[in-house]
Amino acid sequence: MDNNDFERWSHAAAAWSTQYRATLADQPVRPAVSPGQLLATLPQSPPEVAEPMDRIFEDFEALIPGAMTHWQHPRFFAYFPSNAAPAAVVAEQLAATMAAQCMLWQTSPAATELEIRMVDWLRQAVGLPEAFSGSFQDTASTSTLSAVLVMREKALDYRGNAEGLSGQPCLRIYASGRTHSSVDKALWIAGLGQDNLVKIPTGEAPLYPMDSDALAKAIADDRSAGRLPAGVVVCIGGTSTGATDNAKAVIDVARREGLYCHVDAAWAGAAMICPEYRELWSGVEDADSIVLNPHKWLGTGMECSAHFVRDPESLVRTLSIQPEYLKTRGADGVINFSEWSVQLGRRFRALKVWFLLRAYGIEGLRTMIRNHVDWAQALCERLRAEADMQIVTDPVLSLFSFRHVGDGQIADLDAHNLALVNRINDDGRIYLTQTRHDDGIAIRFQAGQFDTTEADFDIAFATITELARQPA
Ligand SMILES: *Cc1c(COP(=O)(O)O)cnc(C)c1O
Repeated sequence: MDNNDFERWSHAAAAWSTQYRATLADQPVRPAVSPGQLLATLPQSPPEVAEPMDRIFEDFEALIPGAMTHWQHPRFFAYFPSNAAPAAVVAEQLAATMAAQCMLWQTSPAATELEIRMVDWLRQAVGLPEAFSGSFQDTASTSTLSAVLVMREKALDYRGNAEGLSGQPCLRIYASGRTHSSVDKALWIAGLGQDNLVKIPTGEAPLYPMDSDALAKAIADDRSAGRLPAGVVVCIGGTSTGATDNAKAVIDVARREGLYCHVDAAWAGAAMICPEYRELWSGVEDADSIVLNPHKWLGTGMECSAHFVRDPESLVRTLSIQPEYLKTRGADGVINFSEWSVQLGRRFRALKVWFLLRAYGIEGLRTMIRNHVDWAQALCERLRAEADMQIVTDPVLSLFSFRHVGDGQIADLDAHNLALVNRINDDGRIYLTQTRHDDGIAIRFQAGQFDTTEADFDIAFATITELARQPA
């Protein structure tokens, strides 16, 4: 492809993208496809000779969008959002064109320095103290893994990377029973083992916070049994129903015990740009490590996870590996972000954050998040007022869960509500997911898509009530 063709097809992609966004609301949120359907249409082997771009582009249009679940759809109310605001998409094209490898300052000077400043802009936006710095990782899973590795290395006095874990004391990490599965996985990958993630019981609705007395007792029990406590993970806005620990109470225990403390606020952290919601993570300023995902509620598009740390030294000591060819000469004091992350090679993520924050302004983003919270809470109240609906968990920010209980005569409520979720998603007007709560199936509703409007919540209400009342 020469430069003329590049220009032509970049324009074609821009035109397609604009049209896609303009017509998305008319499409079903989730496509009517079955597993293997697309795969069956793809050639078994790669082409030996070049194909013309028009054919490639035609195939894209014919095969791909219609078989996608549309995360930018205004009535995407499933999981948590993954917003790609137009300003961030434009930045992505620029970053993709330069395709910089942002591992060292000298491999990407502007990207490194923009990343330093963008992480700090976000820090200010969510009201964290100046003591925090950080980097952009691909996902919260990786940020949490990095924090768990620091817990391991600090507890072992930085011998784990060199010596491995056999012969070391048994390390223990504590989290509420409602934390995200990425915490479990981090322990697997860090070599600590699932059995050494101690799940602490949780308290009352609606936040279901970790019982900090039970945490203190679990730590004491482990110490007397000869095990070595290494760290605590605090959950702010859990994925299932928004479970949120009392950060202050948990971090106090961790501090007393000298344990490293990581906060998983992957989704809810974005809402902390609004001062009135900061109560939710009050006490967080005393944590050692915090993750929040701008690719969820803030609109940067995948993948952009902000990982804040109070003491970069312990992170760098854990993750920095410096063979001769990676040493940067004569550049003392520069940051090489590969030393802050599991990955060596890194994308230029800061560019889309820069475009996004400037194109919306923090105030613009606040308005959007406040709308989502208000509209979701209003929908929750509308459903609560219906005699055949039951609210299972009250809203945490813009997330709540409910189920249809009908006239009280439904024999198997779980099967009934699972069937209802499927019916809703096959219908296509909205997209929801289910969760298991207190041993029953509940239907999750979360609002967070950038283009959603108040009218979309009316459509959600109509769709849910209409399909719930349809004879099975
Ligand atoms: C989404 C989410 C994660 C995982 O985020 P990834 O970036 O997909 O790894 C972890 N914890 C919570 C609370 C989340 O909402």
